[in-house]
Amino acid sequence: MEPRTSQFRQGSASALADNQIQRNLDGLYSGFHSARISASGATTNWEELRERGRQIKWHVIENLDHYLDLLATNVEKAGGKVYFAKDAKAASDYVVSVANNRGVEMVVKSKSMLSEEMGLNERLESEGIEPVETDLGEYIVQLAGDTPFHIIAPAIHKSREQVSDLFAEKLGTDRIEDIEELTREARRQLREKFLAAGMGISGANFLVAESGTVTLVTNEGNGRMVTSMPKVHIAISGMEKVVPSLEDLGLFLRLLIRSATGQMLSSYVTTVTGPRRSEEEDGPEEFHLVIVDNGRSRLLADEHLREGLLCLRCGACLNACPVYRKVGGHAYGWVYPGPIGSIVSPMLTGLSDAKDLPYASTLCGACKEACPVKIDIPRMLLYLRKELTQGDNYPSDKSVDSAEKLAMKGWRASVSSAGTMQFANWVGRLGQSLVSRQSESPGLPGPLSGWTDHRDMPELKESFRSRWKRLQKE
Ligand code: SF4
Repeated sequence: MEPRTSQFRQGSASALADNQIQRNLDGLYSGFHSARISASGATTNWEELRERGRQIKWHVIENLDHYLDLLATNVEKAGGKVYFAKDAKAASDYVVSVANNRGVEMVVKSKSMLSEEMGLNERLESEGIEPVETDLGEYIVQLAGDTPFHIIAPAIHKSREQVSDLFAEKLGTDRIEDIEELTREARRQLREKFLAAGMGISGANFLVAESGTVTLVTNEGNGRMVTSMPKVHIAISGMEKVVPSLEDLGLFLRLLIRSATGQMLSSYVTTVTGPRRSEEEDGPEEFHLVIVDNGRSRLLADEHLREGLLCLRCGACLNACPVYRKVGGHAYGWVYPGPIGSIVSPMLTGLSDAKDLPYASTLCGACKEACPVKIDIPRMLLYLRKELTQGDNYPSDKSVDSAEKLAMKGWRASVSSAGTMQFANWVGRLGQSLVSRQSESPGLPGPLSGWTDHRDMPELKESFRSRWKRLQKE
C-alpha cells in the first residue's frame, strides 16, 4: 500500500463530507466500543490482566533477540523454515520465490495488516500469481480495489447496498441485500478458491516462542482453511508479535478478543506448529514463517517510542478516539490508522511525510484508557510533536515552517512577563475588534483562518483580568 500520510488534511476533509462514512463511523461507538466496555467490565480481574499483559510485552520487547532466536529454533524443530526479512521487499521476494519454486498460480490469504504494509498483493499480481483475500471484509475491499478502513473491520465504511452493488458488478450476482445471503455468496465463491489454491498466506496474531506456534484469531474460520488446505503455508509476521509461552498466549487471547470485538471468545483460534506430521490428516506439506522488520527496529531503537511495539492490533484505541470516529481510517493514509497509527506510521514511512498525524489528536487520553496493554499513546504523540519542532533525534525530519517559528517566538516573548502579556492581550483584543467590526461572522485572515473556519470568534469585550475583578465584585 502506497503511503499517503502527507494527505491527512485532504483525507479528513473528504471523510467529513461523506455521509455514508459518517453514518458507519457512528456505529463503531455503539458497536465495538460499547461491547469492549461491557466485556472488560464483566471480567473481574481486567485491570490485573492488563497490567500482567503489559509487563510480559515489555519483557519481550526488551529481550526480543532472545525470544526471536527461541522461536526460530522451535519452528525449525517442528519442521518449518524461518526467514528474517529486513524490509518489505525482502519479505515479498521470499514469498514470491517460494511460490515460483512450487509453480503456484493462486494463493488464498487470511487477514494480515503486514501484507498490506508489504504491498504483497500488488507484488504477487505483478509476478502473475493471483492473490485472493478470504476474510469477508478484506474480500470486499479487494473486489472494490480499495484499502482497509479499520484494523479489525476493513470494510466497515461500506454499506450493505454498496456491497450488494459490488457483488452484482464483480461476481455477476443478482442484487442481494440480506447480509446472511451476501455472506453465503462470498463463501460459495471462496470455497472454489480454497480448493484450487497452491499456497496459503496468513498473518499472525501471536508467535509463541517456547513451542514455535503461530496463532490466528478469526471469526469466520477462513484462517483455518488458509493454513490447512493448500500444500504450502507461509505465515508473515512483524517481529514484535512474539510471546514467551502458551500460558501467556491464554492471557493475550483474553485481552485481544475482549478489546477488539467485545466477545469473551472469538469463534476460531487457530494454532499452527510446523507442517503436517505423518500421522496427521490435514495441514500443509511445507510451512514457512517470515519475520519482518521493515522499520520496527527504528521504533525499538527509540526509547520514547519503543512502547508502540507492545500493540496487539485490537483496534480499541481507534474506536475510542474522537478524531478517528470523525475522519475514519483512510484519512490517515496508510495501513495503521487511528491513535496507534499516528505513532507507528511516522516511524515506518518517515516522520516528515506523516507530520500531521501526531497532531491528529485531542490528547484526551481515551486511547490509553481503552488499550488492553495501557500503551501511553498521548505521551508518544507529544514526543513526536516535540521532535518535529525542536528535537534532535530525527533532524532530517524536523518540519516547522519559518512563519510558525516566528509566531512561537512572538508568543514566548509575549508571555515572558506580566507587562508584555498585558500589552499582547490588549493588541490582540484591539485586532479582534477591528476584524469583528468588518464582518458579521468574523474570521481570522490568511493562514490564521484555519483556526476560525470551523469555530465562532465572538468579540472579547474585556480582558480576563478585568472580567475576573468585575465578577468578584458582583
Ligand atoms: S494501541 Fe492498544 S488499543 Fe490500540 S490497537 Fe494497539 S493494543 Fe489495541
